[in-house]
Formats: sequence, structure tokens, C-alpha cells
Amino acid sequence: MIRTTCEHQPCGAELRRTGVGRPPRFCSARCRVAAHRARNAVPAELRERRRWVRRGDDKAPLRADTGRHASTTTASTWRTHAEAARSPHGTGLGYVLADGDDVLVLDLDHCLDNGRLAPWAAAILKACPDTFVEVSPSGTGLHIWGRGRLDRGRRIRRPDGACIEAYSSGRYIALGHRYRQAPLHLADLTEALTSLL
Ligand SMILES: [Zn+2]
Repeated sequence: MIRTTCEHQPCGAELRRTGVGRPPRFCSARCRVAAHRARNAVPAELRERRRWVRRGDDKAPLRADTGRHASTTTASTWRTHAEAARSPHGTGLGYVLADGDDVLVLDLDHCLDNGRLAPWAAAILKACPDTFVEVSPSGTGLHIWGRGRLDRGRRIRRPDGACIEAYSSGRYIALGHRYRQAPLHLADLTEALTSLL
């Protein structure tokens, strides 16, 4: 018999595999819903701002209301989190880093391989205070979210070809899902960023 535990972290109930087919991942519908919610959770600090768009198939930002192209510099093309979450356009949520907002994102490319974090990315994560982190829609990158400002976007190309970018304005970030149990708040990343850049 294969023993597994309910994937909803706080539960951890032991699951017994019965019959054939795929083993169950959750002990109950309640745990399945709770796990889905936890995976899609976004800090209130981001949810409360009207900075939300949709991600188009070509990765360009779309307006949540009309599905037409959104602009990362025109606030009238952004919507609330609730509006963007229920929008039928595009394939996911995007958040616009607007000038003067004190929200920044460290974008780590190609650092996740089947859920395993590359050592260089783990080191960066460790150098940051506890803050919201999510996995990019591709499933291979991480977005580290925090408070802070940059006068311009930065890009650091690593010797192994991976890339680290940091932005605080004029960009939108396509959201994937929350990284593990990342906290649902934004820490000040100014110091961590200074040592990194
Ligand atoms: Zn459970």
C-alpha cells in the first residue's frame, strides 16, 4: 500500500490509496479547495491596489474589462484584483508595477527545475527578508515581491546564462502561483537589493 499525506499543508492527514487509478492528493473536498486558495493567494497589499491586468497568450498585458491591450503606464487600463480574477480574457493575472508605488519585483529566470530550486536562486532568496514569492507561469522562474524603488530596471546576466531582473515601474508581472508557503506580505527589499546589484 502506498501511504501519502493530504497535500493541504496544515492538514497532513494520511491518505490510503483505495482501488486503482491516481492516488488521491487531498483527504477531502474542503482540503482541496483550501489548498487551491492557498496556492492562488496574493498579499492584500497587492490585491487592494487597482493595478491588475490579464496576461495575453503572446505575454502582452490585456485589459481585464475589454481584453484589448493594456498599457503599463496608463492607469485607466488597469482594474481591481476582483475584476481581473473573474475576467474571461487572456490566460492569467498580471500586476502592473506603477511608477511611485514602492512595489518591486526580483525576477529570477530558469531557477526551478521540477520544483527544485537552483543554488544561486536559493542564495538570493535567503538574502531577502521573508516576503511574498511566486512561481512564474512557466513554472521555471521565481518572482520575489517586496517594497522598494529603483530608478530604472536592472538586469544581471549570470555566467550560466540565467538572468536576474529587478523592476519597480513600467512593467507588468504575469503571476503564476504562490511559492510553497511564502508569506502573504511584502518586506522591504532595499537592503537586499543593494547588496545584490
Ligand atoms: Zn486534508
